[in-house]
Amino acid sequence: MPARALSSSSADIAEAARLLRRGEVIAFPTETVYGLGGDATNDRAVAAIFAAKGRPRFNPLISHLAAPEAAADLALLDERSRGVARRFWPGPLTLVLRRRADCPISLLASAGLDTVALRVPAHPVAQALLAAADRPIAAPSANRSGRISPTAAEHVASELGDRIAAIVDGGAAAIGVESTVLDLSGERPLLLRPGGVTVEALTASLGPIDEPRSEAGVAPRAPGMLASHYAPNLPLRLEIGEALPGEAVLAFGGDPPPGFAEIRWLSRSGDLAEAAANLFAALRALDRPDFSGIAVMPIPERGLGRAINDRLRRAAAPRP
Ligand code: AMP
Ligand code: MG
Repeated sequence: MPARALSSSSADIAEAARLLRRGEVIAFPTETVYGLGGDATNDRAVAAIFAAKGRPRFNPLISHLAAPEAAADLALLDERSRGVARRFWPGPLTLVLRRRADCPISLLASAGLDTVALRVPAHPVAQALLAAADRPIAAPSANRSGRISPTAAEHVASELGDRIAAIVDGGAAAIGVESTVLDLSGERPLLLRPGGVTVEALTASLGPIDEPRSEAGVAPRAPGMLASHYAPNLPLRLEIGEALPGEAVLAFGGDPPPGFAEIRWLSRSGDLAEAAANLFAALRALDRPDFSGIAVMPIPERGLGRAINDRLRRAAAPRP
């Protein structure tokens, strides 16, 4: 059966929450990308998320909460993590924290680790849904494992529409790249994934942050840091000089070199927030068999550019 198309009306959000409480898997909008949600405290719902995505079981899931206060029932918080949560929640920041012994989140969602990943999203539809579901909701991005993340309900429908109970449509995702994942379970803060909250903002509030992030192509240092990810069907080329025959280009800032078969702008004015919001939809739009590949103009490695370049490097990495 195809997924039910739900709107962001309060009646539809109540229906989506009912499905979640029943253990069904549904897609819903957040400010980063669309999530594939299931009751994080229900082993069967969590297993169904892994199955729908075809996600390897060693890659843990982020649990989403309606309010920051709920984190204290799930994880061990210290002054540092409480401060970061106060400063950045709700928002595009995921915290990896040590699980409480009585944490009700399915061990499957933690992939066997003694930590949980928690986020309080800011999107009003996500907030209303999480409040109505009244439990932590595990939600990875609503795409098949390894593919491009969805920033619109249509993206979810085209990839997972036959595998999930419903899709809540909340329009285009405003930030467009996933949350920043910050590991606060150890002595020193560790950046596991650059994302919607910039490293500069985190450093300003926390001091220096370690980065175990390996180069694309090198073995991952933490679960889920797979080198190949976010991958279109076409090959992606990052250090572009001249156009190759039949190639399309993702443009940023100035004009691209001549000769590309099609130009799609991430941001004509060189605005990183605009580029992040356009990134995944632009990659999808250019991922067509009539092009030979996708070239990408350079994006500065600062602010949201860090997250954009991280996704592009993984999209360009050799496929397993
Ligand atoms: P996704 O929700 O698919 O966009 O990705 C979730 C990210 O959070 C992945 O990179 C996971 O590896 C990471 N993650 C989730 N839980 C944990 C955890 N307990 N420890 C380390 N990383 C985690
Ligand atoms: Mg993902």
